[in-house]
Amino acid sequence: MNLIIMGPPGAGKGTAAERIKAAYGLAHISTGDLLRAAVKAGTELGLKASVYMDAGKLVPDEVVIGLVEGRLGEPDTSNGFMLDGFPRTIPQAEALSEMLDRIGRRLDIVINLRIDDDVIIRRIAGRLICPSCGAIYNADLNRPADGLCKCGGRPARRKDDEPEAVKMRLVAYKAQSEPLIDWYRQRGLLAEVESAGTPAEVFDKISGVISKHSGAGKW
Ligand code: AMP
Repeated sequence: MNLIIMGPPGAGKGTAAERIKAAYGLAHISTGDLLRAAVKAGTELGLKASVYMDAGKLVPDEVVIGLVEGRLGEPDTSNGFMLDGFPRTIPQAEALSEMLDRIGRRLDIVINLRIDDDVIIRRIAGRLICPSCGAIYNADLNRPADGLCKCGGRPARRKDDEPEAVKMRLVAYKAQSEPLIDWYRQRGLLAEVESAGTPAEVFDKISGVISKHSGAGKW
């Protein structure tokens, strides 16, 4: 099974993606994680990307398209993959479609997580990420014990989770990414899931749409 998980920043994509990956054994391809790894490694691509990321802006299409193309060529994707944070623009969706045609793969389902703006702002304000292992915490709901992650890292707020950057990310999302919802709806691939509720409740709804959309037990 090959799927895309979409939704505005703070919709719970990262948390849902961890559960989907564990349940269905898919390769998790997060462009945000790939870009943050490049920034951390100090590569040329990372240096270029960090200017956009810190400002809450989208990194240019050709940069992320190249990253995804490289990642889809890796062997762990052959049992299925989950794209998280990609595509974010129509040109990226078109590039993905061409890429998949070229390598003889296809998408089974595009899951769109829906959430109100005020819930997004609240969730992101409390979000803490472990810089060592990427685990996600929340300053209100799921505090790291003694300020430390299970791996020993010290979870902190991401630069682009600062309120001004979040506002920019929401503006970018509405302008560039919302049109993707219709794009995939027109292609019969879209499944919408309300992302209010606990991570377990949201995951239940996701499993429901996956089995309904793909036919239970098909894979
Ligand atoms: P995320 O972790 O998915 O929220 O991504 C963090 C940041 O990485 C975004 O705010 C963008 O600056 C950049 N980014 C991630 N994925 C993409 C993408 N598909 N297209 C452009 N920029 C991206």
